[in-house]
Amino acid sequence: MAQILATAGYQSTDQPSKARVLIVNTCGFIGPAKEESFGVLQELAANKQAGQILIAAGCLTQRYGAEVAHRVHGIDGILGTRRWMDILDVVEALRHGQHPEPLYHLPDVATVGKDERGVLRAGIQGNSAFVKIADGCRRPCAFCAIPLIKGTTVSRPLKVIIDEARQLGDMGMHEINLIAQDTTDYGYDLGMKDGLARLLDQMTKAVPEIDWIRIMYAYPGYVTDRLIDVIASNPQILPYLDMPLQHAHPDTLRRMKRPANVDWVHRTLEKMRTAMPDLALRTTFIVGYPGETEGEFQALLDFVKEIRFDRVGTFLFSFEPGTASQPLGDPVPHEVKEERYDRLMALQQEISLERNQSFMGKTLDVLFEGQGDGLSMGRSYRDAPEIDGLVIVEGNAPLGELLPVRITGAMAYDLSGVMVTNM
Ligand code: SF4
Repeated sequence: MAQILATAGYQSTDQPSKARVLIVNTCGFIGPAKEESFGVLQELAANKQAGQILIAAGCLTQRYGAEVAHRVHGIDGILGTRRWMDILDVVEALRHGQHPEPLYHLPDVATVGKDERGVLRAGIQGNSAFVKIADGCRRPCAFCAIPLIKGTTVSRPLKVIIDEARQLGDMGMHEINLIAQDTTDYGYDLGMKDGLARLLDQMTKAVPEIDWIRIMYAYPGYVTDRLIDVIASNPQILPYLDMPLQHAHPDTLRRMKRPANVDWVHRTLEKMRTAMPDLALRTTFIVGYPGETEGEFQALLDFVKEIRFDRVGTFLFSFEPGTASQPLGDPVPHEVKEERYDRLMALQQEISLERNQSFMGKTLDVLFEGQGDGLSMGRSYRDAPEIDGLVIVEGNAPLGELLPVRITGAMAYDLSGVMVTNM
């Protein structure tokens, strides 16, 4: 949206009081995210100046457009997530017309990859980019509102993604992070078999200058042997996998309508670790799902102890009306959810520390992205942007550069080290 507006001559500002148009790109998939979105919208609406236009865009509005307009007085425009590329039309309509009532723009059909108005669909931070390969999801996870918001999976055409990767290569990016609600489903709707493996294969050939290609959000059951082969045999593709498992007890998984074959998870992780001894594994779990007994939760703890993930993210179950789990309600008390969260995170902290300690004395390439207080911060292949840890060194390392660091310290989440200089 920012790119489309900039191309049309709009300039951005980070001070709301200076803006003619205020746009909030909302999140709406769990309760706390919804409330945060409402909070920002209400604050902007309360301080709105004469002539300013306030637009709510994104997932919250796609799902709850009328409620957003009702709860936030002063909203001028409502734009859903499926047609974000119409932002300029919405802005212009609001600026040049009279709209006593909010203007709703909520077409149902997603046009991902087919009509993106020439926008480089990458989120860029420094020399790292997120590239969206598909949007929407066709999985049946009972707790999840995303298919209700986004619709089914729509993959972007392979050529569009490869062209985008080439542009990012020309811009000097070091890293591409491939994202989608489920990256392993890439290409299914386009009739491809093993679409993600095919995409990776072509991408490595098209952009040999990109140092790191990272895969996020793999769905259990769909990490194929071919995909493992492609990752393991190509040094550009990082030995890193984020595979949200959500739970480890088959009964909980069945109630979640998720793949419940825990043996498959064991076998696949073993295969991957054999093919890639340096594999960094990330996952996420939900605690307090309806009906989760102490025994089921204990099975999850045992599983975490056994697998020894590098990173674990944990969420408290958030009841979402309209999802398949609605009939199950939200029977696990909040205190129990929090207590399970604390136990799981305390266990994982010990494991993360141990995993980090195993890197002492080793040298890792680090992409430097920040500085402050005489320190420089970067990420190694084990750290996806924003969610994983950091590698910290003393002094001012050149930002945007990928440089070797010898690891000399390990904490639960982060590593510290010294720059390796050529003698
Ligand atoms: S795979 Fe992810 S996005 Fe898709 S329904 Fe399941 S939890 Fe939601």
